[in-house]
Amino acid sequence: MHFTRRALGATALAALMVSPALAQDKGTVGIAMPTKSSARWIADGSNMVKQFQAAGYDTDLQYAEDDIPNQLAQIENMITKGADALVIAAIDGTTLTNVLANAAALDIPVVAYDRLIRDSGDVSYYATFDNFKVGVQQATTVVDGLKERFPDDKPWNVELFGGSPDDNNAYFFYNGGMSVLQPLIDSGDIVIGSGQMGMDTVGTLRWDGSVAQARMDNLLSANYTDKKVHGVLSPYDGLSIGIISSLKGIGYGSGDMAMPIVSGQDAEVPSIKAILRGEQYSTIFKDTRELAGVTVGMVNALLAGGEPEINDTTTYDNGVKVVPSYLLEPLPVTAANWEELLIDSGYYTKDQIE
Ligand code: BGC
Repeated sequence: MHFTRRALGATALAALMVSPALAQDKGTVGIAMPTKSSARWIADGSNMVKQFQAAGYDTDLQYAEDDIPNQLAQIENMITKGADALVIAAIDGTTLTNVLANAAALDIPVVAYDRLIRDSGDVSYYATFDNFKVGVQQATTVVDGLKERFPDDKPWNVELFGGSPDDNNAYFFYNGGMSVLQPLIDSGDIVIGSGQMGMDTVGTLRWDGSVAQARMDNLLSANYTDKKVHGVLSPYDGLSIGIISSLKGIGYGSGDMAMPIVSGQDAEVPSIKAILRGEQYSTIFKDTRELAGVTVGMVNALLAGGEPEINDTTTYDNGVKVVPSYLLEPLPVTAANWEELLIDSGYYTKDQIE
């Protein structure tokens, strides 16, 4: 038996929700995730399935392998199959306007998951982390690392990488990072060796690590034949891995060529290992269990006709409306605190890292 919120009055729904015999009949949530190529999205998907099922929902989880038409087709299909709510981490946050209009016509609530969906009035809520703060933390760890590893080498030569220009988050990370770095550029403590700045120049389409690696190769050959690079602001672990390969390829990290300070994001296992080897300096831990929890709470409230809990009503203007949001706290990770943040919290086991 499959009851939908639309087919039932609030009283009947409330009665169902307390009936243990029908505990699994709260409806189906369609979960559209961008890609399995990054471990974080796999964790997001499986945490949501676990938590939605524990709350009495069926789930339809789909990954689109970073292919926009594929994601649109998956969401259309969820709507056709009768999803009661949609949770979407968009590949390109500007491409969902039409499909969300179809969801809205059927009164299906939509939660934007981690990435803001732009140019649509049909996004109900947004569950994410404080994305500007992520950028602040990334740049702060870069500056801390520069002071620690290169105390006598000022001005520090730094290069900047941005995330995918079709992902709203990428601008928040970049702007947060520049809020820390720009004053040091102005004071002359940091020099952007290539001069390349601004998201239109330093963005990395689809967050692709090989694109970042190729750009780092070019930056090194064009600007660093007679000087060393000391730091790289990288917004995501998958890019950091590419950047680090490029650096190692020309000898950084051995002999008298100290590894530059490289940041990251998502606390992915290969990057924690790279931090322990001294190759990557930092990452940002965003607990996907918590983000799943916030999202399940939002959907639950929406389907029961209630008001989801939010803590931000001003930051995320998607071009049509300010989407009411819940922002979680990101946490910077280095070799000094990884165990406490990632092992003691049960996010990873020690065997996964060592
Ligand atoms: C997420 C980051 C992630 C990036 C690449 C962003 O939207 O917020 O956590 O590193 O996408 O997947």
